[in-house]
Amino acid sequence: MSKHGFTTGIVHGDRIAGTEHGGVRQPIHTSVQYGFERVEDLIGVFQGTKKGGFNYARQGTPTTAALERKITSLEGGTGTVCFSTGMAAITATFLTLLRAGDHLVSSRYVFGNTNSLFGTLRTLGVEVTTVDASDAENVKNAIQPNTRMVFVETIANPGTQIPDLQGIGALCRERGLVYVVDNTITSPALFQPKAVGASLVINSLTKTIAGHGAALGGAVTDTGLFDWSAYPNIADDYRRSPAKDQGLLQIRKKGLRDMGASLSSEQAHAIAMGAETLALRVKQSSDNALALAQFLEGHEAIGKVFYPGLKSHPQYEVAQALFKGASWLLSFELLNAERMIDVVNALKLPIKATGLGDTRTLIIPVAPTIFFEAGAQTRKAMGISDGMLRLSAGIEDIDDLIADFSQALKLAA
Ligand SMILES: *Cc1c(COP(=O)(O)O)cnc(C)c1O
Repeated sequence: MSKHGFTTGIVHGDRIAGTEHGGVRQPIHTSVQYGFERVEDLIGVFQGTKKGGFNYARQGTPTTAALERKITSLEGGTGTVCFSTGMAAITATFLTLLRAGDHLVSSRYVFGNTNSLFGTLRTLGVEVTTVDASDAENVKNAIQPNTRMVFVETIANPGTQIPDLQGIGALCRERGLVYVVDNTITSPALFQPKAVGASLVINSLTKTIAGHGAALGGAVTDTGLFDWSAYPNIADDYRRSPAKDQGLLQIRKKGLRDMGASLSSEQAHAIAMGAETLALRVKQSSDNALALAQFLEGHEAIGKVFYPGLKSHPQYEVAQALFKGASWLLSFELLNAERMIDVVNALKLPIKATGLGDTRTLIIPVAPTIFFEAGAQTRKAMGISDGMLRLSAGIEDIDDLIADFSQALKLAA
């Protein structure tokens, strides 16, 4: 499949891998248990010696396996494990690969719920240090003898900060650290973290990859770059497998079988349907985001615009060098925060809703919603002003979006 282009691989992958009756996509397999003619085969599935078999849907179904193959191909990886949500994928990665006494270094600018999860890790005895990861030196200075993993996101939400992805990759390779990159905002349509040396890639399938806002899902992909034989936290049971498989095997066994946040076949199917148009949607929504960012940057009612496709963005060069586009995510500040409610209510097209990477444009005021719990002090430290709005650009016709913002911003004075 890898000999085909990005979208060709997505739309023909199931059929080429083989489906019943020549179906163009893998059907929705609803069986929870899978039976065998010969008990030796059942035993083989349990022991991992019979490849490609299924025994119980908590550990996967043919439908989730087809989606896993798709994500693996999109990320250029060696294997993928899917979960019921992006947060389940992140939680499983941390809890299966880190132990009490270990240390994790992360960017200071990560998804709010991931940041909240760091608090849980600390209660379990995992040390977490967060730094400004736009400079790999800061990550380097945070490394301790017990550091095992570095975690970053490609583009942070809502501030659109971009870490020194390349520099951190080189650092992790040199120090033998697991490098985990959350690729949710960029998606493999804009960026493959494997190119900067990521060991594991996380995608919230709910967002860009599904694109329709009608299914939740998450995925962890192994890029094949990390040497798991040298990683101390692999259980003896999984050491018997080839070194390249050990990390993902432990994530699947502990994270999916034991912890159980499994993706259903129905949701996997809905995500796979959305994924077919991934590249087309991301192109259109990123073009829309850039046009909106340029329009807003020139508008008298707007203060800062945070978008990596603008020359004013601190990591503009990084985005140009690494990403095929600067994504559909942008944030901007209304100079007069007191007018925010009226301006947002006057918008007719953008949906006032949380969520990201949808075909429809979504808008949300940041301080009173997703960063309300964080408190005023944390918001200030993270550069989130009271007038900040986050926009997830959709695939609408750009003239309609610009016209709508033009009329709504008349109320901003
Ligand atoms: C939404 C999001 C997640 C969590 O994904 P869910 O599928 O909503 O659990 C993780 N990381 C990033 C960057 C996200 O935007």
